[in-house]
Amino acid sequence: DSPDTKFRRVMLKISGEALMGDQGFGLHPPTVERIAREVKVVHELGVEICMVIGGGNIFRGLQGSAQGMERTTADYMGMLATVMNALAMQSALEKLGVFCRVISAIRMDEVAEPYIRRRAVRHLEKKRVCIFAAGTGNPYFTTDTAATLRANEMACQAIFKGTKVDGIYDKDPVTNADAKRYEKVTYDEVLAKNLKVMDASAIALARDNSLPIIVFSLDEPGGFKGILAGDGTYTTVHG
Ligand code: UDP
Repeated sequence: DSPDTKFRRVMLKISGEALMGDQGFGLHPPTVERIAREVKVVHELGVEICMVIGGGNIFRGLQGSAQGMERTTADYMGMLATVMNALAMQSALEKLGVFCRVISAIRMDEVAEPYIRRRAVRHLEKKRVCIFAAGTGNPYFTTDTAATLRANEMACQAIFKGTKVDGIYDKDPVTNADAKRYEKVTYDEVLAKNLKVMDASAIALARDNSLPIIVFSLDEPGGFKGILAGDGTYTTVHG
């Protein structure tokens, strides 16, 4: 165990939009590389790392269905988008010398490993970063729920949700100068106040398994490592 952190195994959840830089769509390779470096420094501490990356920078099911597409088909397209993001992250991590596996909830054996729980655990034990792709494999879910599900299955000690802001605020900090950040907030409060952290099913799944969610900013260089050490500003969602 590393003396720099009490965490042995964690889940890092990032949205697809975190990979698009200022482009407004798709993948921005320097941004992917920057986040890969954040992962590498934590990996070097000896922390076992699971990742789930969203697909919103490419496609969201709801957006497709709003345009008249059949909802489940649109959701599968969203899941496929997460596979593209996972492959981009794998490429960036491997360029930095970090061994990594993409594990897909939807079988596509030429591209990624199928999800087999025990096999994924073994990868983590061997210090390979596991990127869980294709969400839960089911329509009507989100990658937040996928991250919570896999974090439970992999026995992660916490979910680290990297966002654009350094925690959860009582109102939007971008448009409200007097917005206040919560140090800690309970799952029930998040649900009751409809705080925008993760969708309700993800929060409920975390609550039912007492899995803490730590919301922090991915824009701070070294932020992920700092947060694991308990430095910097963030919000913890707990029981
Ligand atoms: N999705 C799905 N089932 C899952 C995970 C994701 O159907 O288990 C689809 C859904 O259409 C979603 C899209 O994949 O809109 C992209 O995921 P998400 O919106 O969670 O990405 P993020 O907002 O984190 O980038």
